Amino acid sequence: MTSDDRLAAIHARIATAARAARRDPAGVTLVAVSKTQDAAAIRPLLATGHRDFGENRVQEAQAKWPALRDEFEGVRLHLVGQLQSNKAADAVALADAIHSVDRASLVTALARAMEASGRRPDCFVQVNIGEEEQKGGCAIGALPALLAEARAADLPVAGLMCVPPAGIEPAPYFALLAKIARDSGMAGLSMGMSDDVEQAVMLGATHVRVGSALFGPRA
Ligand SMILES: *Cc1c(COP(=O)(O)O)cnc(C)c1O
Repeated sequence: MTSDDRLAAIHARIATAARAARRDPAGVTLVAVSKTQDAAAIRPLLATGHRDFGENRVQEAQAKWPALRDEFEGVRLHLVGQLQSNKAADAVALADAIHSVDRASLVTALARAMEASGRRPDCFVQVNIGEEEQKGGCAIGALPALLAEARAADLPVAGLMCVPPAGIEPAPYFALLAKIARDSGMAGLSMGMSDDVEQAVMLGATHVRVGSALFGPRA
């Protein structure tokens, strides 16, 4: 399959799920997660006109994207991986959206970097929706306090993000994240990956993060 075919297939999956949920497919942003992919793998997707891309490591994104941005206008870069506070300034300089805000120290570091640079990437607060030991994300119980901190720091919070537990049905977790977002008055929902785009879109995802279904398996 070509990049065109793969992209069309994902857009078709999004459209089918959106229609089933009586949603407008245009309300779902497809973030092509290009982590581990080199410029040669990314370029064909850019050539189709696709512009939203996701990376999970700041350093890798810094190495790949400035040159690609020179070649293709209008790229929107989404950071989807765990972020160290000492990378906050680099993240703010590089990204148009940060999907992994998960603790107060990072809120502070991002707010400071935004103040200094004047750039204000959309922020999603990542929730550890399955309450897993080793997983990134803010605990559900700690979310109200973190959201209050983010608002006090004037962070542009667009919504919530989650990565549900692997290997089990994700829909209950997506539904829970959607409910928490609704209760907190937030519209953005970053959820759904290659294997569960449909469930996520039916349950309200505004951003799906798709890697392997677009690029093939990662090395
Ligand atoms: C890698 C990654 C994705 C994409 O996963 P696929 O299963 O390849 O679609 C989505 N979100 C995050 C946070 C990731 O790290």
